[in-house]
Amino acid sequence: MAEIEHPLQGTVGEPPEPGKLNSSPPLRLSQGHLSLLSTCPRKFQHTYLEQLASPTTPEQLERLAAGSQFHLLMQQWQLELPIEPFVEEDTQLQCWFSSFRDAASQILMLDEPDGSVLRQSEYALTIEFQGYLLTVVYDLLISNPAQAKILDWKTYPRPQNPRWLLQNWQTRLYLFVLAETGSYFPEQISMTYWFFQAEGRESEAAQQFTVTNDSARHQETRRDLTHLLTQLTDWLARYRAGEPFPQIPLGSDRCDSCSYTIRCDRAPSLAAEHEPAQNKHSCFKDFTLPNLADIQEIPL
Ligand code: SF4
Repeated sequence: MAEIEHPLQGTVGEPPEPGKLNSSPPLRLSQGHLSLLSTCPRKFQHTYLEQLASPTTPEQLERLAAGSQFHLLMQQWQLELPIEPFVEEDTQLQCWFSSFRDAASQILMLDEPDGSVLRQSEYALTIEFQGYLLTVVYDLLISNPAQAKILDWKTYPRPQNPRWLLQNWQTRLYLFVLAETGSYFPEQISMTYWFFQAEGRESEAAQQFTVTNDSARHQETRRDLTHLLTQLTDWLARYRAGEPFPQIPLGSDRCDSCSYTIRCDRAPSLAAEHEPAQNKHSCFKDFTLPNLADIQEIPL
């Protein structure tokens, strides 16, 4: 019997050669950039275009380092390399990994376990879309000819209400890019977040949240991406002409926790003094904020 070719064999995460799309190299955008752009275009300008460093607390640095270690550990495990040097003296890593190992058979299972199964960790894909390079990196991609399952590791507890993950740009972009490669129909692709940090109880098992995909969701993401990137193209053109990116409306509580409040003249005491009528003069136009209030900041 002829062997069925695996849809992802021969698919590589290589981007189109920069410079081919237009005369200047295209911007490379990750889910973090899209989240930033949706949250506040001016913040995108400061962070991405001007590369202004945002202060990071020692606690944040520690959390980021621990998360990176866990991702390295999982890569090590996937490559069947020794993991002991990683976990030996780190009880937190040990806990997370043991939580993974206890649920591994469920985590690594495909719904339709037929044909050759590929498991690829830190799998990168890039597609060109509207003159931008959209880039994703899957923590683990498990696939066979019938389906592809994107897995993402989280080292914090599962949120009480994880439904905001449905609208999160990580979920949307990760599902979209894989479907756009043409390897699978949207209905064949799903994404599962795994949360390895127990909340309160030591013995709590790993928790998950799965998002299934379909053509309607795919088209909705295409529509929203097209809209956002059309806005970005316009903002970039204006920015080159000396006009800054739009700010979010005055009075938004997002400004209170933003590291650019002073630069933006949005310190709480200053914002309170402004009359709402001044919003009319804001350069913020036709910009709708998705429900991202609970999404933790994604480091760029
Ligand atoms: S202070 Fe407000 S307007 Fe300025 S970058 Fe931060 S969120 Fe945007």
